Amino acid sequence: MSEEKKTNPLQYLKGIGPKRAAVLQRQGIATLEDLINFFPRKYVDRSHIVDLNLLQPDQEVTVVGKIEAVGIRHGRRRFLYVVISDGKGILEAVWFNGIEYFKNQFKVGEWVSFSGKVQFYRGFQMTHPEFDRLGEGELDNMLNTGKILAFYPGTEAFKRVGLNSYTFRKIFYFLFKNMTVNVQEYLPPKVMGQRQLLPRDRAYYQMHLPEDGKILEKAIYRFKYEEFFNLQLMLALQRAHLKSKPVGISFPKKSERLEKLYYRLPFKMTEAQKRVVREIRKDMREPTPMNRLLQGDVGAGKTLVALMAMLIALDNGYQAALMVPTEILAEQHYFNLTRMLEGLDVEINLLTGSTGVKERRRINETLGSGAPQIIIGTHALIYNEAEMPNLGLIIIDEQHRFGVMQRAKLIEKGRQPDVLVMTATPIPRTLALTAYGSLDVSIIDELPPNRKPITTIWRFDNTAAKIYRFIREHLEMGEQAYIIYPLVEESEKMDLKAATEAYEHLKSTEFKNYRVGLLYGRMRAAEKDEIMKAFVKNEIQVLVSTTVIEVGIDVPNATIMLIEHAERFGLSQLHQLRGRIGRGKSKSYCILKTPYNIGEIAQQRMKIMTETQDGFIIAEKDLELRGWGDFFGTRQSGMPDFKIANPITDRPILEEAREDAFKLVKEDPFLRKAEHKRLLEYLRKHLKERMDLINIS
Ligand code: ADP
Ligand code: MG
Repeated sequence: MSEEKKTNPLQYLKGIGPKRAAVLQRQGIATLEDLINFFPRKYVDRSHIVDLNLLQPDQEVTVVGKIEAVGIRHGRRRFLYVVISDGKGILEAVWFNGIEYFKNQFKVGEWVSFSGKVQFYRGFQMTHPEFDRLGEGELDNMLNTGKILAFYPGTEAFKRVGLNSYTFRKIFYFLFKNMTVNVQEYLPPKVMGQRQLLPRDRAYYQMHLPEDGKILEKAIYRFKYEEFFNLQLMLALQRAHLKSKPVGISFPKKSERLEKLYYRLPFKMTEAQKRVVREIRKDMREPTPMNRLLQGDVGAGKTLVALMAMLIALDNGYQAALMVPTEILAEQHYFNLTRMLEGLDVEINLLTGSTGVKERRRINETLGSGAPQIIIGTHALIYNEAEMPNLGLIIIDEQHRFGVMQRAKLIEKGRQPDVLVMTATPIPRTLALTAYGSLDVSIIDELPPNRKPITTIWRFDNTAAKIYRFIREHLEMGEQAYIIYPLVEESEKMDLKAATEAYEHLKSTEFKNYRVGLLYGRMRAAEKDEIMKAFVKNEIQVLVSTTVIEVGIDVPNATIMLIEHAERFGLSQLHQLRGRIGRGKSKSYCILKTPYNIGEIAQQRMKIMTETQDGFIIAEKDLELRGWGDFFGTRQSGMPDFKIANPITDRPILEEAREDAFKLVKEDPFLRKAEHKRLLEYLRKHLKERMDLINIS
């Protein structure tokens, strides 16, 4: 730890002191630089504040006022009320939940701001508004001068030492008024000029003590731009760097087994599949390591493409690894590939967390011997002790569940192997480039022609009887159905119980004259295989299942999918599930069943599902609804995380920054020019981990 950190420089700042400094440090704010980078979560300016005598019902507004009364009343339900007045009118805020907690937040005579929707109920009301405390003088100031106030993220620990938005505003006021905060510009002058960026020192000042809305916007733009620019620069550098390092493997030989497989396929490959195989083959012929992302909607036929790439590696004398995120998926790939490769004399092995010691030893021996083979596995592949000196190709399925660092670890097992990552989440190109970094992108933008549109409907639980009757009618016509139950790790036991009970119930009531089967993740592999085979042969007509069928099985005769508790599934997951039907001759139906009362966002998910079947649109909506971090699971995955920029809503800025960054690296690939010196220093200091992946001295 540096001397500076031990003595914590923040404690000497006016408004902080040793106690607050210690709390800030525990939140990761230990230096002056950390402090000025602690950005407000929102701003309120006078023009957004509505006087209390001018309220209208159903408006979303922010109001300010002095607390006149706080108390608890008993209506039909017990609730907390807080009455505020601004001298022109009054408003009552009410809380039905967390009454005791909120009661302690408000004191008569204090000034607060409330944000929320106005209702009229014997006077103007807001239910569960967002609120912030204000200093009294501050309020005058704001109302009289039109100043904008910054509001900061709060925590319990902050609150205990009196750190709230009001005190933060004071701290920044003293900091910027009384001291020179020495922040140097590091963005190149050319970019600054071209994008008219606010200089860094001014931008910090404006973030915390904005003078007006226009300049605040410029400050925010600067920091968003900067965040995207730095990331894009890393990507551009990585790319330039990888491209200039021709030490990978070249696979020059045509694959005989690929050709054999091609000629015996029971269907015609789509043009998109063929194009993508050509792109991959071209990459593989080159000695530069392939680094390619393969996007394709569920059912687009990525597995076949992957298999063909693996056969190229095998027929050139190398091993190929296929890494997937779950054991079920690994088993299913193993099962499918074994079947597809029958008679082609290909060695395939499966390595997962549940592979026994003996089998593992056998596999490690054959891997170590360098024998050309396909090895399919989970994370276990990364942590497996065997080196794979003859590993020529790595394919990673469902990319976004693996991080950059995990990928790097697997790559280290070989000597510059080719890498292909596959994802069923077809997000827009710029976002893909941002998320997946320095990869080339191939897109399978065409589904096999045998796919039929699926009718998707959303129904409430009270229509169950009708739904079951509908399913029976289709069973009578010889078709089959899936009934899907949610199962998540956090409530696995209860979920499994619910699914099992439903199965027992349905089997003896609604579907007592039909053959019903049950499938769930924790079953033994052999048992699962048996059930799936029975379903394929129509020996099982109704398959009750937890989400294990999300991937893999292909039963064209299954035309109905009923998803129970559909509100508990994410959009992409629903889309993947639905992709299991609509593969046969008859019309298919997907029924989303939910309780009557579900949250707003869940409602939106259901609506989107009923409106579109386009994986692109669904992925984009999913990203919008969940946000970047949630969508990519940023923290564990090593995906870029953003502090202030939002790749979805700020996409135009992202595109500007990307263009500028790539141009800069093209002109100065090693950042050696004088005007890039500061930039290089900054990247070294702040993006160390990523810089370590790049060799620029
Ligand atoms: P995904 O891209 O979702 O991984 P899969 O590779 O699992 O899709 O393919 C889904 C199904 O479509 C598989 O049963 C596969 O054999 C089949 N398939 C792949 N390509 C074609 C094609 N060109 N025509 C018809 N069916 C195909
Ligand atoms: Mg797949």
